[in-house]
Amino acid sequence: MTANQQRIEQHIESLSRFTATPGKGVTRLTYSEEDLQARNYIKEKMMNYGLRVTEDGFGNIFGKLEGTLPDAPSVIVGSHFDSVPNGGAYDGTAGVVVGLEVAALFKENNMKPAYPLEIIALVEEEGSRFGGGLMGSRGMMGLLTEEDFKKLADRDGILAVDAMADIWVNPANGKKRDPKTMKAFLELHIEQGPILEEKGIQIGVVETIVGLTQLEVTVQGKAGHAGTTPMDRRSDALVSASQIIAALPRLATDEGEGTVITTGRLNVFPNGANVIPDKVVFTVDIRSGKEEHVLNVVRKLEAFIAQQNCHGINTSTEQQLYIAPKELDADIRSLLKEASDKLEIPYCSINSGAGHDAMVFSDFTACGMVFIPSKDGLSHCPEEWSDASHLADGTDIIYETVKRLTEAKRL
Ligand SMILES: [Zn+2]
Repeated sequence: MTANQQRIEQHIESLSRFTATPGKGVTRLTYSEEDLQARNYIKEKMMNYGLRVTEDGFGNIFGKLEGTLPDAPSVIVGSHFDSVPNGGAYDGTAGVVVGLEVAALFKENNMKPAYPLEIIALVEEEGSRFGGGLMGSRGMMGLLTEEDFKKLADRDGILAVDAMADIWVNPANGKKRDPKTMKAFLELHIEQGPILEEKGIQIGVVETIVGLTQLEVTVQGKAGHAGTTPMDRRSDALVSASQIIAALPRLATDEGEGTVITTGRLNVFPNGANVIPDKVVFTVDIRSGKEEHVLNVVRKLEAFIAQQNCHGINTSTEQQLYIAPKELDADIRSLLKEASDKLEIPYCSINSGAGHDAMVFSDFTACGMVFIPSKDGLSHCPEEWSDASHLADGTDIIYETVKRLTEAKRL
Protein backbone atom coordinates (compact mmCIF):
# COMPACT_ATOMS: atom_id res chain seq x y z
CA MET A 1 0.00 0.00 0.00
CA THR A 2 1.25 3.49 -0.81
CA ALA A 3 0.41 6.92 0.61
CA ASN A 4 -3.30 7.69 0.88
CA GLN A 5 -3.79 11.11 -0.69
CA GLN A 6 -7.28 11.52 0.72
CA ARG A 7 -6.12 10.86 4.26
CA ILE A 8 -3.29 13.36 3.79
CA GLU A 9 -5.75 15.98 2.55
CA GLN A 10 -7.98 15.30 5.52
CA HIS A 11 -5.14 15.80 8.02
CA ILE A 12 -4.12 19.08 6.36
CA GLU A 13 -7.73 20.27 6.31
CA SER A 14 -8.38 19.26 9.94
CA LEU A 15 -5.20 20.86 11.27
CA SER A 16 -5.86 24.08 9.30
CA ARG A 17 -9.00 24.55 11.39
CA PHE A 18 -6.94 24.96 14.55
CA THR A 19 -6.31 28.64 13.96
CA ALA A 20 -6.81 31.81 16.00
CA THR A 21 -7.72 33.68 12.79
CA PRO A 22 -10.42 31.70 10.95
CA GLY A 23 -10.80 32.92 7.36
CA LYS A 24 -7.50 34.78 7.61
CA GLY A 25 -5.01 31.95 7.42
CA VAL A 26 -3.49 29.73 10.09
CA THR A 27 -2.36 31.43 13.28
CA ARG A 28 -1.20 28.73 15.65
CA LEU A 29 1.18 30.09 18.22
CA THR A 30 3.10 27.80 20.54
CA TYR A 31 1.27 26.84 23.79
CA SER A 32 -1.94 28.56 22.60
CA GLU A 33 -5.46 27.10 22.61
CA GLU A 34 -4.93 26.19 18.93
CA ASP A 35 -1.63 24.49 19.79
CA LEU A 36 -3.56 22.34 22.28
CA GLN A 37 -6.22 21.44 19.69
CA ALA A 38 -3.61 20.51 17.06
CA ARG A 39 -1.59 18.67 19.72
CA ASN A 40 -4.57 16.54 20.72
CA TYR A 41 -5.32 15.75 17.08
CA ILE A 42 -1.72 14.72 16.34
CA LYS A 43 -1.48 12.61 19.51
CA GLU A 44 -4.76 10.86 18.77
CA LYS A 45 -3.68 9.98 15.22
CA MET A 46 -0.31 8.77 16.48
CA MET A 47 -2.09 6.43 18.91
CA ASN A 48 -4.44 5.23 16.15
CA TYR A 49 -1.39 4.29 14.09
CA GLY A 50 0.03 2.23 16.94
CA LEU A 51 2.64 4.66 18.22
CA ARG A 52 3.54 5.21 21.87
CA VAL A 53 3.09 8.93 22.49
CA THR A 54 5.24 11.11 24.75
CA GLU A 55 5.93 14.83 25.14
CA ASP A 56 9.21 16.34 26.27
CA GLY A 57 9.61 19.31 28.62
CA PHE A 58 9.22 21.75 25.71
CA GLY A 59 6.01 20.16 24.45
CA ASN A 60 7.60 18.52 21.42
CA ILE A 61 5.47 15.46 20.57
CA PHE A 62 6.96 12.03 19.85
CA GLY A 63 5.16 8.93 18.59
CA LYS A 64 7.33 5.84 18.70
CA LEU A 65 7.09 2.46 17.02
CA GLU A 66 9.56 0.18 18.82
CA GLY A 67 12.13 -1.73 16.78
CA THR A 68 13.26 -5.32 17.24
CA LEU A 69 16.87 -4.35 18.06
CA PRO A 70 17.39 -3.59 21.76
CA ASP A 71 18.38 0.02 22.58
CA ALA A 72 18.72 0.98 18.91
CA PRO A 73 18.60 4.65 17.85
CA SER A 74 15.45 5.97 16.16
CA VAL A 75 14.80 7.05 12.61
CA ILE A 76 12.79 10.23 13.11
CA VAL A 77 10.31 11.77 10.66
CA GLY A 78 8.47 15.04 11.15
CA SER A 79 8.47 18.81 11.23
CA HIS A 80 6.97 21.66 13.26
CA PHE A 81 3.31 22.38 13.92
CA ASP A 82 3.40 26.05 14.96
CA SER A 83 2.78 28.80 12.40
CA VAL A 84 3.50 32.46 11.78
CA PRO A 85 0.59 34.88 12.37
CA ASN A 86 -1.84 34.59 9.43
CA GLY A 87 0.28 31.90 7.81
CA GLY A 88 -0.74 28.94 5.70
CA ALA A 89 -1.88 25.36 6.19
CA TYR A 90 1.31 23.70 4.90
CA ASP A 91 4.45 25.23 6.39
CA GLY A 92 5.56 22.68 8.97
CA THR A 93 2.17 20.98 9.12
CA ALA A 94 2.88 19.23 5.79
CA GLY A 95 5.91 17.51 7.31
CA VAL A 96 4.01 16.45 10.43
CA VAL A 97 1.22 15.03 8.26
CA VAL A 98 3.77 13.13 6.16
CA GLY A 99 5.13 11.67 9.41
CA LEU A 100 1.64 10.55 10.42
CA GLU A 101 1.10 9.01 6.99
CA VAL A 102 4.42 7.12 7.16
CA ALA A 103 3.28 5.68 10.51
CA ALA A 104 -0.09 4.75 8.97
CA LEU A 105 1.70 2.92 6.15
CA PHE A 106 3.89 0.99 8.61
CA LYS A 107 0.72 -0.17 10.33
CA GLU A 108 -1.28 -0.95 7.20
CA ASN A 109 1.59 -2.81 5.56
CA ASN A 110 2.40 -4.73 8.77
CA MET A 111 5.97 -3.48 8.74
CA LYS A 112 8.18 -4.26 11.72
CA PRO A 113 11.28 -2.06 11.94
CA ALA A 114 14.59 -3.23 13.38
CA TYR A 115 15.41 0.36 14.41
CA PRO A 116 12.58 2.30 16.05
CA LEU A 117 10.54 4.71 13.94
CA GLU A 118 9.63 7.99 15.61
CA ILE A 119 7.24 10.61 14.32
CA ILE A 120 7.91 14.05 15.73
CA ALA A 121 5.91 17.28 15.88
CA LEU A 122 8.03 20.20 17.04
CA VAL A 123 7.01 23.44 18.77
CA GLU A 124 8.03 27.05 18.06
CA GLU A 125 10.09 26.62 14.88
CA GLU A 126 8.92 29.97 13.56
CA GLY A 127 9.72 31.88 16.74
CA SER A 128 6.41 33.73 16.34
CA ARG A 129 5.61 33.73 20.05
CA PHE A 130 8.90 33.54 21.94
CA GLY A 131 11.34 34.82 19.29
CA GLY A 132 14.54 33.41 17.88
CA GLY A 133 13.04 30.41 16.12
CA LEU A 134 13.93 26.69 16.09
CA MET A 135 13.14 26.53 19.82
CA GLY A 136 11.80 22.98 19.85
CA SER A 137 14.77 21.44 18.08
CA ARG A 138 17.36 23.65 19.77
CA GLY A 139 15.88 22.92 23.18
CA MET A 140 15.73 19.20 22.55
CA MET A 141 19.40 19.13 21.55
CA GLY A 142 20.45 21.03 24.67
CA LEU A 143 21.15 24.34 22.89
CA LEU A 144 18.65 26.17 25.08
CA THR A 145 19.49 25.97 28.77
CA GLU A 146 16.90 25.40 31.48
CA GLU A 147 17.62 28.89 32.88
CA ASP A 148 17.15 30.56 29.49
CA PHE A 149 13.95 28.64 28.90
CA LYS A 150 12.57 29.69 32.28
CA LYS A 151 13.18 33.34 31.34
CA LEU A 152 11.50 33.11 27.93
CA ALA A 153 8.42 35.30 27.67
CA ASP A 154 6.15 36.45 24.85
CA ARG A 155 5.35 40.06 23.93
CA ASP A 156 2.70 40.27 26.66
CA GLY A 157 5.17 39.14 29.28
CA ILE A 158 3.64 35.66 29.62
CA LEU A 159 6.33 33.17 30.52
CA ALA A 160 6.73 30.13 28.26
CA VAL A 161 6.60 27.84 31.30
CA ASP A 162 3.26 29.34 32.40
CA ALA A 163 1.78 29.19 28.90
CA MET A 164 2.83 25.54 28.75
CA ALA A 165 1.15 24.76 32.04
CA ASP A 166 -2.07 26.35 30.70
CA ILE A 167 -2.25 23.66 28.00
CA TRP A 168 -1.23 20.88 30.40
CA VAL A 169 2.24 20.27 29.01
CA ASN A 170 4.49 19.27 31.89
CA PRO A 171 7.72 21.29 31.99
CA ALA A 172 9.13 18.63 34.35
CA ASN A 173 9.21 16.12 31.49
CA GLY A 174 12.70 15.29 30.22
CA LYS A 175 14.11 18.01 28.00
CA LYS A 176 17.43 16.97 26.53
CA ARG A 177 17.60 14.23 23.96
CA ASP A 178 20.74 12.10 23.83
CA PRO A 179 21.99 12.29 20.20
CA LYS A 180 22.98 8.61 20.53
CA THR A 181 19.25 7.78 20.48
CA MET A 182 18.89 9.31 17.00
CA LYS A 183 19.89 7.44 13.85
CA ALA A 184 18.48 9.88 11.30
CA PHE A 185 16.02 12.73 10.85
CA LEU A 186 13.87 13.15 7.74
CA GLU A 187 11.69 16.17 7.05
CA LEU A 188 9.37 17.03 4.22
CA HIS A 189 8.72 20.74 3.84
CA ILE A 190 7.10 23.00 1.29
CA GLU A 191 9.71 24.76 -0.84
CA GLN A 192 8.51 28.30 -0.01
CA GLY A 193 10.03 29.45 -3.30
CA PRO A 194 9.25 29.23 -7.04
CA ILE A 195 11.93 26.84 -8.35
CA LEU A 196 10.14 23.46 -8.34
CA GLU A 197 6.91 24.89 -9.71
CA GLU A 198 8.77 26.64 -12.54
CA LYS A 199 10.65 23.44 -13.38
CA GLY A 200 7.46 21.37 -13.16
CA ILE A 201 9.18 18.86 -10.87
CA GLN A 202 7.32 17.68 -7.76
CA ILE A 203 10.26 16.64 -5.57
CA GLY A 204 13.37 18.53 -4.52
CA VAL A 205 16.05 16.62 -2.62
CA VAL A 206 17.72 19.25 -0.45
CA GLU A 207 21.52 19.37 -0.73
CA THR A 208 22.29 22.32 1.52
CA ILE A 209 20.44 24.59 3.89
CA VAL A 210 21.82 28.03 3.19
CA GLY A 211 24.16 29.83 5.53
CA LEU A 212 23.13 33.27 6.55
CA THR A 213 24.46 36.29 8.28
CA GLN A 214 22.69 39.37 9.52
CA LEU A 215 24.49 42.66 9.96
CA GLU A 216 23.27 45.87 11.48
CA VAL A 217 24.69 48.98 9.84
CA THR A 218 24.64 52.34 11.56
CA VAL A 219 25.20 55.51 9.55
CA GLN A 220 25.84 58.54 11.74
CA GLY A 221 25.53 62.01 10.22
CA LYS A 222 24.51 65.41 11.52
CA ALA A 223 21.01 66.71 12.08
CA GLY A 224 20.04 70.09 10.64
CA HIS A 225 17.07 72.14 9.56
CA ALA A 226 15.65 71.01 6.23
CA GLY A 227 15.14 74.60 5.13
CA THR A 228 18.21 76.45 6.37
CA THR A 229 21.11 74.01 5.85
CA PRO A 230 22.69 74.45 2.38
CA MET A 231 23.09 71.29 0.34
CA ASP A 232 26.90 71.39 0.44
CA ARG A 233 26.96 71.58 4.26
CA ARG A 234 24.97 68.51 4.96
CA SER A 235 25.93 65.19 6.49
CA ASP A 236 22.69 63.43 5.63
CA ALA A 237 22.72 59.94 7.11
CA LEU A 238 19.76 58.80 5.01
CA VAL A 239 21.34 59.85 1.72
CA SER A 240 24.48 57.86 2.60
CA ALA A 241 22.45 54.87 3.77
CA SER A 242 20.45 54.95 0.53
CA GLN A 243 23.66 54.88 -1.51
CA ILE A 244 24.83 51.84 0.43
CA ILE A 245 21.51 50.00 0.14
CA ALA A 246 21.21 50.75 -3.58
CA ALA A 247 24.58 49.07 -4.15
CA LEU A 248 23.73 45.85 -2.27
CA PRO A 249 21.89 43.84 -4.98
CA ARG A 250 24.95 44.18 -7.19
CA LEU A 251 27.15 42.55 -4.51
CA ALA A 252 24.89 39.48 -4.52
CA THR A 253 24.52 39.18 -8.30
CA ASP A 254 28.30 39.58 -8.80
CA GLU A 255 28.80 36.73 -6.33
CA GLY A 256 26.24 34.54 -8.14
CA GLU A 257 25.23 30.92 -7.40
CA GLY A 258 21.98 32.01 -5.79
CA THR A 259 23.56 34.42 -3.32
CA VAL A 260 20.91 36.83 -2.03
CA ILE A 261 21.04 40.04 -0.02
CA THR A 262 18.21 41.95 1.62
CA THR A 263 17.64 45.08 3.66
CA GLY A 264 14.39 44.44 5.47
CA ARG A 265 14.48 46.93 8.32
CA LEU A 266 15.48 50.57 8.35
CA ASN A 267 15.08 53.13 11.08
CA VAL A 268 15.60 56.83 10.47
CA PHE A 269 16.35 59.26 13.31
CA PRO A 270 14.88 61.59 14.33
CA ASN A 271 12.39 60.72 11.56
CA GLY A 272 10.88 64.15 11.15
CA ALA A 273 9.75 65.57 7.83
CA ASN A 274 11.70 68.82 8.26
CA VAL A 275 14.89 67.48 9.87
CA ILE A 276 17.97 66.20 8.05
CA PRO A 277 18.40 62.64 9.41
CA ASP A 278 21.39 62.36 11.73
CA LYS A 279 21.26 58.61 12.13
CA VAL A 280 20.06 55.63 10.12
CA VAL A 281 20.19 52.02 11.30
CA PHE A 282 19.42 49.21 8.86
CA THR A 283 19.82 45.47 8.55
CA VAL A 284 21.55 43.45 5.86
CA ASP A 285 20.69 39.76 5.50
CA ILE A 286 23.05 37.73 3.30
CA ARG A 287 22.43 34.09 2.35
CA SER A 288 24.16 31.52 0.19
CA GLY A 289 24.58 27.76 -0.07
CA LYS A 290 28.37 28.26 0.03
CA GLU A 291 30.09 29.78 3.01
CA GLU A 292 32.76 31.48 0.85
CA HIS A 293 30.04 33.54 -0.89
CA VAL A 294 28.64 34.77 2.40
CA LEU A 295 32.12 35.70 3.62
CA ASN A 296 33.04 37.41 0.32
CA VAL A 297 29.91 39.55 0.36
CA VAL A 298 30.47 40.55 3.99
CA ARG A 299 34.05 41.57 3.17
CA LYS A 300 33.04 43.64 0.11
CA LEU A 301 30.12 45.17 1.98
CA GLU A 302 32.31 46.28 4.88
CA ALA A 303 34.87 47.81 2.49
CA PHE A 304 32.13 49.64 0.59
CA ILE A 305 30.51 50.96 3.76
CA ALA A 306 33.86 52.23 5.06
CA GLN A 307 34.22 54.29 1.85
CA GLN A 308 31.21 56.33 2.90
CA ASN A 309 33.13 57.75 5.87
CA CYS A 310 33.63 61.33 4.71
CA HIS A 311 31.82 64.70 4.87
CA GLY A 312 30.83 64.14 8.47
CA ILE A 313 29.43 60.65 7.94
CA ASN A 314 30.55 57.82 10.20
CA THR A 315 29.54 54.24 9.61
CA SER A 316 29.79 51.12 11.72
CA THR A 317 28.78 47.53 11.17
CA GLU A 318 27.87 44.88 13.67
CA GLN A 319 27.39 41.20 12.86
CA GLN A 320 24.34 40.01 14.79
CA LEU A 321 23.91 36.51 13.49
CA TYR A 322 26.06 34.00 11.68
CA ILE A 323 24.98 30.51 10.69
CA ALA A 324 27.21 28.42 8.45
CA PRO A 325 25.56 26.56 5.54
CA LYS A 326 24.61 22.99 6.47
CA GLU A 327 25.14 20.25 3.93
CA LEU A 328 22.63 17.46 4.49
CA ASP A 329 23.77 13.84 4.79
CA ALA A 330 25.12 12.45 1.48
CA ASP A 331 23.98 8.85 2.16
CA ILE A 332 20.43 9.93 2.95
CA ARG A 333 20.37 12.14 -0.14
CA SER A 334 21.34 9.07 -2.19
CA LEU A 335 18.65 6.95 -0.51
CA LEU A 336 15.99 9.60 -1.24
CA LYS A 337 17.06 9.77 -4.89
CA GLU A 338 17.11 5.95 -5.20
CA ALA A 339 13.60 5.84 -3.75
CA SER A 340 12.41 8.48 -6.24
CA ASP A 341 13.94 6.51 -9.11
CA LYS A 342 12.35 3.28 -7.91
CA LEU A 343 8.95 4.97 -7.64
CA GLU A 344 9.50 6.78 -10.97
CA ILE A 345 8.82 10.15 -9.37
CA PRO A 346 10.80 12.99 -11.02
CA TYR A 347 13.10 14.92 -8.67
CA CYS A 348 15.89 17.43 -8.74
CA SER A 349 18.47 18.67 -6.26
CA ILE A 350 17.73 21.96 -4.57
CA ASN A 351 19.09 24.22 -1.83
CA SER A 352 16.98 25.57 0.99
CA GLY A 353 16.96 29.35 1.32
CA ALA A 354 15.10 29.21 4.62
CA GLY A 355 16.19 27.78 7.95
CA HIS A 356 14.66 24.53 9.23
CA ASP A 357 14.83 22.25 12.27
CA ALA A 358 16.99 19.88 10.16
CA MET A 359 19.65 22.59 10.35
CA VAL A 360 19.82 22.12 14.12
CA PHE A 361 19.62 18.31 14.03
CA SER A 362 22.31 18.03 11.32
CA ASP A 363 25.00 18.77 13.93
CA PHE A 364 23.87 15.68 15.87
CA THR A 365 22.49 13.13 13.42
CA ALA A 366 22.21 12.30 9.70
CA CYS A 367 19.54 14.52 8.15
CA GLY A 368 17.60 14.50 4.91
CA MET A 369 14.98 16.92 3.56
CA VAL A 370 12.46 16.70 0.75
CA PHE A 371 10.78 19.76 -0.75
CA ILE A 372 7.52 19.86 -2.68
CA PRO A 373 6.38 22.82 -4.82
CA SER A 374 4.67 25.86 -3.32
CA LYS A 375 1.99 27.41 -5.52
CA ASP A 376 3.35 30.69 -6.92
CA GLY A 377 6.29 30.23 -4.54
CA LEU A 378 4.19 31.66 -1.71
CA SER A 379 4.43 30.85 2.01
CA HIS A 380 3.78 32.50 5.39
CA CYS A 381 0.45 33.76 4.05
CA PRO A 382 -3.11 32.39 3.82
CA GLU A 383 -2.63 31.70 0.07
CA GLU A 384 0.12 29.16 0.82
CA TRP A 385 -0.83 25.95 -1.04
CA SER A 386 0.70 22.67 -2.13
CA ASP A 387 -0.75 19.81 -4.14
CA ALA A 388 -1.82 16.79 -2.06
CA SER A 389 -0.58 14.47 -4.82
CA HIS A 390 2.90 15.96 -4.34
CA LEU A 391 2.55 15.37 -0.62
CA ALA A 392 1.65 11.75 -1.36
CA ASP A 393 4.68 11.39 -3.66
CA GLY A 394 6.91 12.88 -0.97
CA THR A 395 5.43 10.49 1.60
CA ASP A 396 6.14 7.47 -0.60
CA ILE A 397 9.75 8.55 -1.07
CA ILE A 398 10.23 9.09 2.66
CA TYR A 399 8.43 5.83 3.47
CA GLU A 400 10.79 3.88 1.17
CA THR A 401 13.79 5.63 2.69
CA VAL A 402 12.60 5.00 6.25
CA LYS A 403 12.13 1.31 5.45
CA ARG A 404 15.77 1.16 4.35
CA LEU A 405 17.04 3.15 7.34
CA THR A 406 15.07 1.08 9.84
CA GLU A 407 15.59 -2.12 7.83
CA ALA A 408 11.89 -2.78 8.23
CA LYS A 409 10.48 -6.19 7.29
CA ARG A 410 6.93 -7.25 6.56
CA LEU A 411 5.51 -9.38 9.35
ZN1 LIG B 1 8.56 25.63 8.31
